[in-house]
Amino acid sequence: MKKLAINGGEKLRTTPFPAYNTIGIEEEEAVLRVLRSGKLSTFLGTWHDDFFGGPEVRALESEWAAYFGVKHAISVNSATSGLYAAIGACGISPGDEVIVSAYTMSASATAALVYGAIPIFADIEEDFYCLDVKSIETKITPRTKAIIVVDIFGQPYDVEAINTLAKKYNLFVIEDTAQAPGAMLGEKYAGTLGDIGVYSLNYHKHIHSGEGGIIVTDDDVLADKIRLIRNHAEAVLSARGIKDKSELINMVGYNYRMTEIEASIARCQLKKLPSLLTQRLENTAYFNEQLAQIPCIKPTKIREGAKHAFYVHPLQFDAEVAGMHRNRFIDAVKAELPPTLLREESVVLLSYGYVKPLYLQPLYQEKIAFGRDGYPFNLSEVTYPKGLCPITEEMHFNRLVTHEFMRPGMGKADMDDVVQAFVKVWDNRAELV
Ligand SMILES: *Cc1c(COP(=O)(O)O)cnc(C)c1O
Repeated sequence: MKKLAINGGEKLRTTPFPAYNTIGIEEEEAVLRVLRSGKLSTFLGTWHDDFFGGPEVRALESEWAAYFGVKHAISVNSATSGLYAAIGACGISPGDEVIVSAYTMSASATAALVYGAIPIFADIEEDFYCLDVKSIETKITPRTKAIIVVDIFGQPYDVEAINTLAKKYNLFVIEDTAQAPGAMLGEKYAGTLGDIGVYSLNYHKHIHSGEGGIIVTDDDVLADKIRLIRNHAEAVLSARGIKDKSELINMVGYNYRMTEIEASIARCQLKKLPSLLTQRLENTAYFNEQLAQIPCIKPTKIREGAKHAFYVHPLQFDAEVAGMHRNRFIDAVKAELPPTLLREESVVLLSYGYVKPLYLQPLYQEKIAFGRDGYPFNLSEVTYPKGLCPITEEMHFNRLVTHEFMRPGMGKADMDDVVQAFVKVWDNRAELV
């Protein structure tokens, strides 16, 4: 008789795991307050007090700025919009090059493309999965204008080394902090470590308002431009004055405005961030301690001086110790476990790797973005061959394991079931080889 569920044995657990649901009475009351006010958004594109949005939007922005210790916080309707506005505000132009991690969510790189710039993918650190400063340096050319660093999985990027390099070459550092609200390096919050930081408030993130994003910066000029891009940019003359035509660069506005309802929810969610983060850290510590009994799973490494935010819990798999490929082992663990409530039907929150290295997606392989002629790739000699970022490929295809079982709402018994699934597969691994 086989024991492992993947071979027809009994599953270790079938009752779904509890949902991660941070929405409560506070959000309910906030939404009702806004609905009853009748003001669901008061944004105006013209130069007027309402150019800056309504009371909830402004309260959220000032609370966010105070929490993260930054001069400007600007709400938008998604982190994707936030990244686009950030690139626009930096004056990035067609044919410019923007260095970006190969291992991130697609929007980190499309932000460059929408302004006609060329994403140049650099490799990641083997321990922390963030952009590797050594790889960045090999990719810098006279056309490089910015680096998009990503605090991937909740780990702050290599701030000192990358900021020093950026300064040397006069490059903007845009920090994609979608996965790391509340992470820190030393005394500073992730998101405030570069020139511009972008947080996400989408449903899958630590805190959310359904959809939403926040851009932060200490730079007044960048903040002005971001507010213009967010809101049609027709007010550019009044907002910036046109001393010089360069003020008009990228002042082609979008509508990235957040509604009052979303802002009221995000305000409640921000208050919950500290306790949600503490629970993530405690749960992750428990997993690290318990999973230490599985010899083929290596512990998570955290950058010196950093506080990790654990959007997901990254682990590394040692195939030699296991005597099999990662995917075989992880498939067997997944087969033992149930899905999680409020997530897509039947999804077990355990994966090998994260997303496919971005340059392997069709957009880059075919080099077709806007229109028929391959713009903006046709402005460049760039190529995106397999093997471009070897560490990213090794982590994605062979070594990295991520799971989300450390999200608040999981009790000790739930976490123990996850651990026991790993133990069961390890103990019965002979069935798999
Ligand atoms: C979620 C995410 C985004 C995009 O966030 P949205 O708010 O959904 O647009 C961008 N970058 C990273 C790294 C993310 O995880």
